[in-house]
Amino acid sequence: LPVEFVDARKVLQVIEKHDYEAYFVGGSVRDTIIGLPIHDVDMATSAYPAEIKQMFKRTIDTGIEHGTITVMFDNIGFEITTFRTETGYQDYRRPDQVNFVRSLKEDLKRRDFTINALAMRENGDVIDLFDGIGDLRRHLIRAVGDPEQRFNEDALRMMRAVRFGSQLDFTIESDTFNAIKKHSSLLKKIAIERINVEFVKMMLGFAPGRGIQQMLETDMFNNVPFFDRFIVSLKELVHLPIAENIKSEDQVWSLFSISLKLNYDQIKKMMRLWKCSNKMIETTLKIVMGCYAITKNNLTAWTTYEIGLGNLLKANQVAAVFENSIMTTQINDLYQHLPIKHKNELKINGSILIKNGFHPGPNLGKILSQLEHEVIDLQVNNDTDKLLRRAKKISNNM
Ligand code: ATP
Ligand code: MG
Repeated sequence: LPVEFVDARKVLQVIEKHDYEAYFVGGSVRDTIIGLPIHDVDMATSAYPAEIKQMFKRTIDTGIEHGTITVMFDNIGFEITTFRTETGYQDYRRPDQVNFVRSLKEDLKRRDFTINALAMRENGDVIDLFDGIGDLRRHLIRAVGDPEQRFNEDALRMMRAVRFGSQLDFTIESDTFNAIKKHSSLLKKIAIERINVEFVKMMLGFAPGRGIQQMLETDMFNNVPFFDRFIVSLKELVHLPIAENIKSEDQVWSLFSISLKLNYDQIKKMMRLWKCSNKMIETTLKIVMGCYAITKNNLTAWTTYEIGLGNLLKANQVAAVFENSIMTTQINDLYQHLPIKHKNELKINGSILIKNGFHPGPNLGKILSQLEHEVIDLQVNNDTDKLLRRAKKISNNM
C-alpha cells in the first residue's frame, strides 16, 4: 500500500473495531490499482457523524451536513464521510438533500463512474460492485447506472468524464459518450466555477488533445462560455504537443489565447466569463505578451524585466506548443544581464527626488518611470548621483 494509506489505515481500524464498516473510496483506490501516485485519501463509513465523534478524542466538523468529519489521529487530520445517498437534484445540479445510509452499495451507486466507485478495506481487499476494475483494464470511463439519468442529475459529470479521459488517457464508453452528446446543453445549467476546475484538470492531464476532441465531438464546446465561436481553431489544437509543454493553469489560458488569436481585451473577456481570478488574468496576460515577443523574435531587456523570468519561461513553453524553437538559454542570459530585477532595486525613488528639490506631483512618477526604463536599457547606471543628474535633465525637458 502507498505510504499515504499507512496512517489512514489506523483510522479505518478504529472504526472497524467499533463494528462499523469503513473503506478507502474514490480517486485514491482507482489510482493505487493502476499504479498512479495518489493525492488525497478519501474514506467512507457506515458510522454516522455522531458515532464517529464518539470514537475519536479530537474531531472537526468539516462538512457535517454532508456527513464529513475530520478525525485527528497522531496530529494528522483525516476526512471521513458517512455513506450517503443524494436526492432532490434540481436544475441538473448538485442534490439539495443528502441522506445517511448504512449500505456501502448505496454510497457507491451515487458515484459518477465505475472506476470511481471502488472501495478498499484497510487490509487491501477491494470491493468492486460495478466492474470498475474491468473498466480500468479496458481503459473506459463508464457511468454508474443509466448515463442519461446520471447526467440529468448532475451535468458536471459530463465534464468530469472528459477530464478523467484526459488524465488517464481513457476512452469514454459508447453509451456514456452518446448520453453526453445528447445532453451536452445541460452544461449551461452548471456554475462556471465548477466547470472551470474540471476543464483545467483536463487540460493539465496526460492527453488534453483527446479531451479537446471529445468536447468537440460531444458538442460541449458549444455549451460553455466564449469557445462556441472558435470551433475551427480548437480543432487545430487536438494534435499539438500540449501535455509536454503546458504545466500550469496560467499556461492553459495562455494556450487558448494564442491558439484563438485573441487580443488582450478578448483574453480578459474570456477569463472573466470563466470566472478566473484577477491574479490569474494578470499572469496570463504577461505570459501571452512573452509568448508574442518570443515568437516574433523581439524580446527586449524591458519586456524581459516587465514579464519576469518565471513567466517568460512559461511563455517559452506555450510557444513550443506551436513551433519547436527553444530559447531557454537566451531568456536566462537576457534576464541575468538585467541591471536590476525589480523596481525596489532602483537607487532612486520619490522621496530622494523630493529631498533634492523636486516638487511632489504627477511629474515625479513620470520621471521615475523614465529612469527605470533608462536603467534597464543601460542608458544610465543605477547610481543615485547619476540618476539625480539625469532626473534634472528630464525635468527640464518636461
Ligand atoms: P482526483 O484524483 O482528481 O481527486 P477523484 O476521483 O478523487 O479524483 P474527486 O473530485 O476528488 O475525484 O471526488 C472524489 C470522489 O467522489 C470521486 O471519485 C467520485 O466517486 C465522487 N464524486 C465526485 N464528484 C462527483 C459527482 N459530481 N457525481 C458523482 N460522484 C462524484
Ligand atoms: Mg479526490
